[in-house]
Amino acid sequence: MHGPEYETVEIFGMRIHAVREHEAHALVHGWASAPHDKLRYVVTPNVQHTMVFQENPAFREAYAGASLVIADGWPLVASSRLFGTPLPERVAGSDLLPGLFDAARADQPRTVFLLGAAPGVGEKAAREIHARWPNVRVVGTYSPPLGFERDEAENARILALVAAAQPDILVVGLGAPKQELWTHRFRHEIRAKVALCLGGTIDFMAGATRRAPVWMRKAKLEWVHRALSEPRRLGRRYAEHAVLFPALVARTWLSSRRS
Ligand code: UDP
Repeated sequence: MHGPEYETVEIFGMRIHAVREHEAHALVHGWASAPHDKLRYVVTPNVQHTMVFQENPAFREAYAGASLVIADGWPLVASSRLFGTPLPERVAGSDLLPGLFDAARADQPRTVFLLGAAPGVGEKAAREIHARWPNVRVVGTYSPPLGFERDEAENARILALVAAAQPDILVVGLGAPKQELWTHRFRHEIRAKVALCLGGTIDFMAGATRRAPVWMRKAKLEWVHRALSEPRRLGRRYAEHAVLFPALVARTWLSSRRS
């Protein structure tokens, strides 16, 4: 399968695939089953990505190279409706991996490499994954040291670890924009079939961070839970976005009315 097979919708300059969650699973499993010809990678835009996208050309390039761009965040889905180009649904980045693993088949066990998160978290996530999904095998984990992306020896080491494991799926959990930039930079060297740029998912899998309770997710308040769980790091980011994102929506809306 060669993407993009699904229609895309342009919001705030980003081309986002109009896919439902089960369609995203099928696409990724299709790529993961095919012979390795080139790496395909998946990015999951949210409000933070949208703001970075506006000001960072390298991030825009990384996005342009993605085979699948799925809307992780109801503000993007709501904006798509406001601008008359509706996306079918939100596909939460942290739901993508459990959903993919649920869909893994016994006759075709999925091999996965977990790159990112603090030391020990990947191993813990691997134990949780093996206990819950017998059709998934974690074939490698690695927690890169701080600043690794600027260290060529360290980058080579990571690529060698991945090449030795040859996973179907490489989970890149380094936070945005680092994970998208790193994956795009090494797309020709990464010996995996699909890379998923998934932020803190390895932490979620390990149980190191708790997701919001279901009622909060349903009330679209997952971001409040995250901001409260890491107020120092995320509180400021969310406070900025609370101002900047509505301003971007307003600007986009005004310019769409003018054209
Ligand atoms: N991380 C990492 N190496 C880095 C920077 C971040 O492994 O150099 C990990 C960090 O431990 C965490 C994830 O990347 O597991 C960031 O998750 P977060 O939810 O913050 O992602 P974001 O929301 O920033 O995309």
